[in-house]
Amino acid sequence: MFVDQAKIYVKAGDGGNGCVSFHREKYVAAGGPDGGDGGKGGDVLFVADDHTSTLVDFRYKRKYIAENGAPGSGNRCTGKSGADLIIPVPRGTLVREADTGRLLADVSGEEPVLVFQGGKGGAGNQHFATATRQIPRFAKPGTPGEGGYITLELKLLADVGLVGFPNVGKSTFISVVSAAKPKIANYHFTTLTPVLGVVKQDTGSSYVMADIPGLIEGASDGVGLGHDFLRHVERCRLILHVVDVAGSEGRDPKEDFLAINRELERFSPELAQRPQIVAANKADLATPEQVEEFTQFIREQGMECYPISAATTKGTKELADLLAAKLAQLPPIRSFEAQPITQQERRSRQLSREFQVTVENQVYRVEAPFLEKLLEGVNLDDYSSLQYFQKVLRESGVIDKLEELGIQEGDTVELAGFAFDFVP
Ligand code: GDP
Ligand code: MG
Repeated sequence: MFVDQAKIYVKAGDGGNGCVSFHREKYVAAGGPDGGDGGKGGDVLFVADDHTSTLVDFRYKRKYIAENGAPGSGNRCTGKSGADLIIPVPRGTLVREADTGRLLADVSGEEPVLVFQGGKGGAGNQHFATATRQIPRFAKPGTPGEGGYITLELKLLADVGLVGFPNVGKSTFISVVSAAKPKIANYHFTTLTPVLGVVKQDTGSSYVMADIPGLIEGASDGVGLGHDFLRHVERCRLILHVVDVAGSEGRDPKEDFLAINRELERFSPELAQRPQIVAANKADLATPEQVEEFTQFIREQGMECYPISAATTKGTKELADLLAAKLAQLPPIRSFEAQPITQQERRSRQLSREFQVTVENQVYRVEAPFLEKLLEGVNLDDYSSLQYFQKVLRESGVIDKLEELGIQEGDTVELAGFAFDFVP
């Protein structure tokens, strides 16, 4: 089975919580706060892996979670950072946010691409000792790692894409000009998965050719293999259109040529404009007149046409060299412009101190995920910790909101399972 699309859940590691701890040593009384910081959560990166050409693995494993940072500990020990999660995907895989379709990464280059960042470790209480607050019984929690559902879509990277009807000799051609060994057989749709072949030149340079499953007329209406596979020629710099010039299956090569180009046009007008060269294959089975007439026809369409015989390899090397010469004049392989999560977005997410207040019988219920997180690290019996907490309440606008709603001294505030009396 060839899989070129998948939806998975991916999450970077959470930052570890900061630690509340006080220095202890024999004969030393009342040591200062020495709680260490939490470790950073592991990032999620994607890397191009040339040993795989399908996304099939992602059909079986659908959840990928990077390691969390460890909490800090006493003696100012910072927690261990969570390991990054590096996910290998076939080169040319596009990573998108599932809900919005936003392109987070085009995994085509050599370097791993960061997609989700791990959370930051929370500060330990070692940082919270001030002249007025000498016994800080709180530390900060780590921030959560980024994550979400993403879709993976493979758009193969190749310089030359082979298109043509089934059985015209595309797989045979790629197998004689490269080391690729696709299935070759005298029946339609032998190629069910795209095959990449590296065509090496005598000069030492090389280019990549893709053999995609045969297109047949009506593919855009869902006949045969449909258009799905055409996504793999979308990035090709050059199209090699292979035609059975002998019409060995009782077909008309000119009609075939026009039909395939109609399909390309229907899939993507832009793709139809891509530079195209025609290989008049199975020339060994054709009469010289057939070859001549077809070549003439293609030239009238404004394209170049080369008679070859993939089966006997006649003309194949010359054609492969010619493709290399053409490629040298064409722009590089198209990459898609990704919009990764920016540092600014990250900051505003971190700062997002969203909350909701509902009032019922003088009870003000505050729902604020960021405060719940904070409360985990606060010891409410401790005066200075409570002060710190109140400072956050004020800074985040919660107190303003309560006052705006008419809260009076002595009214109850409910927050994360705690109930407080309001003191202005
Ligand atoms: P594809 O479907 O376009 O990939 O076609 P294949 O490469 O699988 O070839 C289909 C059939 O045509 C196979 O039986 C090949 O041996 C045969 N074939 C391919 N190229 C030639 C050629 O140049 N001459 C002849 N006589 N047969 C060929
Ligand atoms: Mg084939």
